[in-house]
Amino acid sequence: MQRVYLDNNATTPLLPEVFEAMHPYFLEKFGNASSIHQQGQQARAAVEQARESVAALLGCRAAEIVFTSGGTEGDNLGVFGIAGAGDHVITSTIEHHAVLNACKRLEQLGCEVTYVPVNAEALIDPLAVAAAIRPNTRLISIMMANNETGVVQPVAEIGKIAQERGVLFHTDAVQAAGKIPVNVKEIGCQLLSISGHKIHGPQGTGALYVRRGTLLKPLFYGGRHERSRRAGTENLPGLVGLGRAADIAREWLAEGGDKKMAAMRDRFEKTILGCVERTRVNSGSASRTPNTSNIIFDCIEGEALVIALDLKGVSVSTGAACSSGAIEPSHVLTAMGLTPDEARASIRFSLGKQSTEEDLSFVLERVPETVTRLRELSPVWKAEVRSASC
Ligand code: PLP
Repeated sequence: MQRVYLDNNATTPLLPEVFEAMHPYFLEKFGNASSIHQQGQQARAAVEQARESVAALLGCRAAEIVFTSGGTEGDNLGVFGIAGAGDHVITSTIEHHAVLNACKRLEQLGCEVTYVPVNAEALIDPLAVAAAIRPNTRLISIMMANNETGVVQPVAEIGKIAQERGVLFHTDAVQAAGKIPVNVKEIGCQLLSISGHKIHGPQGTGALYVRRGTLLKPLFYGGRHERSRRAGTENLPGLVGLGRAADIAREWLAEGGDKKMAAMRDRFEKTILGCVERTRVNSGSASRTPNTSNIIFDCIEGEALVIALDLKGVSVSTGAACSSGAIEPSHVLTAMGLTPDEARASIRFSLGKQSTEEDLSFVLERVPETVTRLRELSPVWKAEVRSASC
């Protein structure tokens, strides 16, 4: 059966060129980048080449890149590397759990945390961030783009405020990198995390940009890898893949791939809104990453729609996380002011570089009929239709 994958914010498929670049580093080019013999030198050269590629994607120096095991580690290193007991940290209510739960842990350790709210478009007000700054504020951690809605935050304005007030600024750019231009100087941040598997690179790879001169406490103790900022033998094939994916992402952006993808996503979205009644885009008018469309289908149970579409060959997801058997409404959508029912009725479609117009047509052929069938089974829908016709 044909399958279409529109869950690229969860993970992206490895591009064949990335796999090809990695392949020799599993086999003949297997060295440890810390060894002084030839295999070691070859591995070191490959790791440093990957570092150059990631630095070029983010507009920084290669020495400012610390390789990590992914977005979660980069976020944790950015947060715990800076803040501790007695400090104050500012973050937002819509961060990924990699930042939110790191901040919750900081609170247990005696650090105070302010969670800045968002408006109905899921946007953070830079003035609210400025107003939250205290004399002991050590760090601001605000994401660049949200994983559920794709909404892009005014990070450059927040960076300017942080700089003026002498506070360090970390941004989680896991969902922004490779989709929109990311330049650490324009953002004005000291720390920025990215993840390999969100940019068609391998899972288990990532990087944290650490501006030169920023003192960072390591999370791990061991060897002096990554200039003593992240101990542990480098993931050689993984980093080669991350570097290749970063090069491809940079070329794609330079060729206007983001604009083409946004146009494709917008046509897709417009078609759904046009042919399925009572649908809305979550934070549709805010600036978004070009690949993400989060849509509410009134009176639908999002999980049921995901399962029904899966059976028809379409992979999408809800923003909801399943915890202890209960479907929790998305903390991002409820923070924007959606009711728990509206949040549960929302589905995220996220495109990747492999997505084609044919893929979207395949999905568009299946979504309306699936929503109609589920609504026919929904007592809430039936009650609403009945009351509307009275
Ligand atoms: N931050 C954001 C915004 C994410 O979307 C994700 C993953 O979904 C992460 C952090 C965690 O990244 P990783 O899966 O590489 O640990």
